[in-house]
Amino acid sequence: MATEKKEFKTEVQQLLDLVIHSLYSNKDIFLRELISNGSDAIDKLRFNALSDKKLLKDQTDFRIKLFTDNDAKTLIIEDNGIGMTKDELEANIGTIASSGTRRFMEEIKKGNSSDNPELIGQFGVGFYSAFMVADKVTLKTRPAGSDESWTWESSGDGSYEITEGGRDKNGTEITLSLKEDCRDYIVEFRLREIIKKYSDFVEYPILMDITREEPELDEEGKPKEGVEKKVTITEETLNSMKAIWMRPKSEVKKDEYNDFYKHISHDYTDPFKTIHYSAEGTLEFKALLYLPSKTPFDMFQHEGIKHGINLYVKRVFIMDNCEALVPRYLRFVKGVVESNDLPLNVSREILQEDLIIKKIEKNVTSKILTTLKGMMKKSKEDYINFYKEFGKVIKEGIEVDPTNKDKIKDLLLYESSKTKPGEYISLKEYTERMIPDQKNIYFLTGDSRATVDNSPHLEVFKKKDVEVLFMTEPVDEFILPGFGEYSDKSLKSIAQGDIDLGTEEEKKIAEEQKKEVTGKYKNLIKKIEESLKEDVKEVRLSNRLTDSPSCLVTDEGDINPQMERIFAAMNQPVPEVKRILEINPNHPVIEKMNKIFESDKKDSKVSDFSELLHNQALLTEGVAVKDPVRFSKLITDLMIG
Ligand code: ADP
Repeated sequence: MATEKKEFKTEVQQLLDLVIHSLYSNKDIFLRELISNGSDAIDKLRFNALSDKKLLKDQTDFRIKLFTDNDAKTLIIEDNGIGMTKDELEANIGTIASSGTRRFMEEIKKGNSSDNPELIGQFGVGFYSAFMVADKVTLKTRPAGSDESWTWESSGDGSYEITEGGRDKNGTEITLSLKEDCRDYIVEFRLREIIKKYSDFVEYPILMDITREEPELDEEGKPKEGVEKKVTITEETLNSMKAIWMRPKSEVKKDEYNDFYKHISHDYTDPFKTIHYSAEGTLEFKALLYLPSKTPFDMFQHEGIKHGINLYVKRVFIMDNCEALVPRYLRFVKGVVESNDLPLNVSREILQEDLIIKKIEKNVTSKILTTLKGMMKKSKEDYINFYKEFGKVIKEGIEVDPTNKDKIKDLLLYESSKTKPGEYISLKEYTERMIPDQKNIYFLTGDSRATVDNSPHLEVFKKKDVEVLFMTEPVDEFILPGFGEYSDKSLKSIAQGDIDLGTEEEKKIAEEQKKEVTGKYKNLIKKIEESLKEDVKEVRLSNRLTDSPSCLVTDEGDINPQMERIFAAMNQPVPEVKRILEINPNHPVIEKMNKIFESDKKDSKVSDFSELLHNQALLTEGVAVKDPVRFSKLITDLMIG
C-alpha cells in the first residue's frame, strides 16, 4: 500500500500546537504517558485473551522496552500489548477530538494552566505529549492475532502519514526523534530517574539494554594498557513493578502513594487522603483508595464522571472504573481493589449481580465513610476543605443508601444563622447547642447564603435565640423528603407550615393574643386576601415576624419555590402552588392599613398596599416581583404621598 497522507482533525492540531508551543515545564511526563499507554495495551491484551486464547499465541513475557540511539538521537518505547488496527490508529491518534481534548483546551485558554503539562494526562490526551520532546514521532503497531501492521508518522504540523507494514510482532513501538533541547532523554540515568519517579509501580517490567564498558584487568586489578575495553550489554529492569497495593503499608512512602494516584486518576494534584487496607476473614481483598482534593471537571456533567475503582483478580487487571465496587455518591473515589475470590472472566454485567462484589462494595463504602468521620474528628478545618468539594455528592447518599444513611448524616455540614459565612456545623453540633425544650432541627432553604441570611422567616428565631441551619444547595431539596430524623429530632423548615416555638405556657399566651388581634384584623385580612386572590391561597397573621411586615410561607405538604425552580430547570412539569402570605400584626404598616380600611372600605390604597406587601415578601426571598412596572408605579405613588 502506498503511503496515505491525512490531515489531523482541527481540534487535534490545535491541541498539538499547544503541546508544541505552549507547554514547556516538566516535559518528563511524556514518558509516563507513553509507558502508561503501553501498560494499558498489555492489560487489554491479557484481558481479551481470557476469552480468546489465540490472541496470546505463546506469549508469556509482557513488557515495555526502551531503546536509545545516540547517533540517530531517538528514543523508542515499545510494548508487546494489544496493538492497533488501522481504524483504531486513525480514530485514536489523529482524528479523535474527544470531549477530553476540547475541555483540556478550554482550560488552557482560560489561562488556568498554560504551563502545566500535567493537565494533558488529566484530560486523557496523553499520546500527544510525545510532541513536547520530539519533532517527529513514528508509531509502528500490529494488533494481536493479526498479520497486518501499520506505520504512522507525523511531525505535528497539520498532517500525518500511514503506511502499511513496519512491525512483525504484536504491540506498538513509538520512535521519538528528539528535539535538540531534549536530547538528554537518551541518557540512561535520566530515563532511570524519570521511571523511578513516575512509573515505578507499573506492573510490567520496563526494560532497557544497558551497555557497559569494562577494562580488562591485570593480576593486580589494574586496567591493562593498550587493551580494548570489554563491552557488555545486559537487559535491566528499570522499575520495581511491585503493585503498590500488595505491599505492606509500612513500606510505601507517601510520594509513591501520591504518584500512583496521579497515574490512575490523571489528576495532577496530590490526593486528599489515601486509604490502604486488606480485608481478612471470610472476605479477602486488598484495597488502595484515594479521596481527591479537588472536584474533577466532569463530576456533575450530564453523562457523568467515569466512576468506579480499578479491579484486579489474581494479579490480572480486569477493568478500570468498576462501578459495582463503589456507590455513585462516592464516585469521586479512585483506587484499586484486588480480590482472589472472583473468577477471571467476570464481565461488567455479571459484576452488578455478583455477591462477592456486593460484599466488597459494602466493605469499601463503610471504610470510606468511617475514614471521613475520622477525618472530621481529627481536623474539622481540613474536613471542611474536602467537604466544600465533595459534600454535595456525599449528600446524594441520604437518598440512595438507606443502610448508611445515619453514618452519612453525621458527615454533613451546614452554615447556620449562628455561623459566619464559610463556617460550618454538623448536625451533632447543632443538637448539642439547641435551646432547652427545642423540639425540632430548624432549617431554611434558599439559593444562597445572602438570601437566607436576610430572610424575614428568621426573625422570631433570632429573637428566641434558636439556631437555623441554612440549606443552599439544590441537592438539599432532593434529600429532605427522605431525610428522616436526626437524634430523635425532626427536621422542620421555618418557611413551611406553622411554627411551634416556646414552652406550652408561652404558646398558650400567644394563642390568646392571636385570638384577640385576629378579631381586630378579621376584615382587613379578608380584604387583603381578596386583593391577592390570584397570587396567594391564604392571608394570615404571623407569629414568625418581628421586624418585617410580611413574608410568604409554603403550606404544609406543598412543594416549595426552590423545588419548583429545580423542576422547571429540568424541564419537568410543575403544578402551580400558591403560598400563604403572613402579615405581622405588630407592624405599623398593618396598623395603618387597618385604619385606612376602617375609615373607607373602598379606598384603593388597601389593595395597592396589599400588592406591595406581597411583592416585598417576594423580594426578601431574592425573587423578582410579578409585574416590575406596576410595582415601580405603586412605589412612586407612595413616595408622592
Ligand atoms: P488515553 O490513553 O488517555 O486514552 P492517549 O492519547 O494517550 O489517551 O491514547 C489514545 C488512545 O490510543 C488510547 O486510548 C488507546 O486506545 C490508543 N493507544 C495509545 N497508545 C497505545 C499503545 N501503545 N497500544 C495500543 N493502543 C494505544
